[in-house]
Amino acid sequence: MLRIILFGAPGAGKGTISGILEKKYNYKKISTGDLIRDEVRSNSIIGEKVRSVIDKGELVSDDIIIEIVKKRITSEYISEGYIMDGFPRTIIQAKELSKMVADREVAIYLKVEDEKVIINRLLSRVICNNCGAIFNAKNKPPKKEGICDICGGILEKRTDDNEGAIRERLRVYREITEPIINYYEDKGVLNRVDASISVREVLKKIGEILN
Ligand SMILES: [Zn+2]
Repeated sequence: MLRIILFGAPGAGKGTISGILEKKYNYKKISTGDLIRDEVRSNSIIGEKVRSVIDKGELVSDDIIIEIVKKRITSEYISEGYIMDGFPRTIIQAKELSKMVADREVAIYLKVEDEKVIINRLLSRVICNNCGAIFNAKNKPPKKEGICDICGGILEKRTDDNEGAIRERLRVYREITEPIINYYEDKGVLNRVDASISVREVLKKIGEILN
């Protein structure tokens, strides 16, 4: 069982890339963003707790995230492999993830140097409220405005995709998440991919890494 860890700044394309890899290789995508939104939507106790944190553009605590992820990473749910999207975000999470089931681990760092690229991408992003598919008014518009091409669901902006919250997420990302680059580098499983280029080029590079 292969574990792929996709990480990079908000807006680097983790959701889009992991969605395509899931279909292409038959791996399970484990997006903490999706898992959290499911919890919030179901009004679970955890969901209520995380709602206020997300709306402020802050990160959900390690304990809560780890609990949510552990529920999902089980050999009954996963056979070929799984792709982590949005997790780990901290060293503590990375160490916890290392204890979870996998035979082989590949970390892929989607690198975007220019912050303006990230902010513009996130400001024009919309997400299906039913299946979680991501569209972008500029780069990847849906066929019909406001409607998901895949399932017909309604496309919505995330409440935290506004400039203030995005800048706060980038600041937190640099402070907390960037050290995990070193963690995976030390483990010898890190691959850097320039994610400011087209999705097609990024996928080609990732294909080479996985082969
Ligand atoms: Zn959809």
